[in-house]
Amino acid sequence: MILLDGKKTSNDIKDEITIKVAELKKKGRKTPHLAAIIVGANGASITYVNAKVKACEKVGFESTLVQLPEDVSEAELLSKIDELNNDDRIDGFIVQLPLPKHIDEHKVTLAVSPEKDVDGFHPENLGRMVLDLPCFLPATPYGIVQLLDRYDIETSGKDCVVIGRSHIVGSPMSILMARNNKVGNCTVTLTHSRTKNLIDYTKKADIIIVALGKAEFLTADMVKEGVVVVDVGITRVKDASRKSGFRLLGDVKFDEVAPKCSYITPVPGGVGPMTIASLMMNTLQAMDMK
Ligand code: NAP
Repeated sequence: MILLDGKKTSNDIKDEITIKVAELKKKGRKTPHLAAIIVGANGASITYVNAKVKACEKVGFESTLVQLPEDVSEAELLSKIDELNNDDRIDGFIVQLPLPKHIDEHKVTLAVSPEKDVDGFHPENLGRMVLDLPCFLPATPYGIVQLLDRYDIETSGKDCVVIGRSHIVGSPMSILMARNNKVGNCTVTLTHSRTKNLIDYTKKADIIIVALGKAEFLTADMVKEGVVVVDVGITRVKDASRKSGFRLLGDVKFDEVAPKCSYITPVPGGVGPMTIASLMMNTLQAMDMK
């Protein structure tokens, strides 16, 4: 079993970006600038946003964090987005999800200018992805593709099962794995909560990408020997022995599934850091496209 080390791979990508940023500076060009909007004080969201800002600093990007209160109105948030869309200093920005219930996430996604949509959630970018045109790929699926690519995992002709059909992970992931690309050319089955006898699909799969948000859902009896498993899930579970008071679990029962795998991502240290690396790559691309 080989561990797909997202932490190491994302550090490699960040080192490559650091060199590119230094070259840009030498040529007198602008430093890439990523902004993030966070609404409210959700603990997990704050952790993710802070990790993104820290990553910006590491590669030499500029970063701006916009913190808005939990009770900010939808109109105020949309006006902030408009401001960032029109701010030439900002190359790309993200709005950290989830948003409070009184704000329509679709409206927010549509409000972000597609040229600055480095999370790759805007319909224009998703449509361009389907058509294989240049675009910002959604950060988490892009990170997974990068990880499979950098570990030279053969995907062509393989049976791939994706568990979960969210707009930000499962659905775009299924499209990317089916594309005619180096990482791609799989026969993909996209599964969800209405899928009957999920095990019939997972048992036959060569590659399983698990993104449903249920801790330790995928168990050893559900997979075949030699499978490649990518675990996207992140669930915080209480753990009094930790300083933070919690630990992170993936969607895969790692200890029993890992021995059957040819490759597997850990949680933490797998897909999470790759999502951040993708955001950096998209921001650099946003600046290049200007
Ligand atoms: P989501 O929007 O909650 O969607 C979950 C999906 O799982 C839905 O499509 C749902 O089906 C499906 N599902 C639920 N129960 C199922 C079951 N028993 N069998 C098969 N499918 C089932 O999830 P998400 O936003 O994609 O996030 C998934 C997980 O990934 C979460 O733990 C999240 O925290 C994590 N995540 C991690 C990263 C990272 O960077 N590592 C990034 C994004 C998300 P229906 O559509 O039928 O309801």
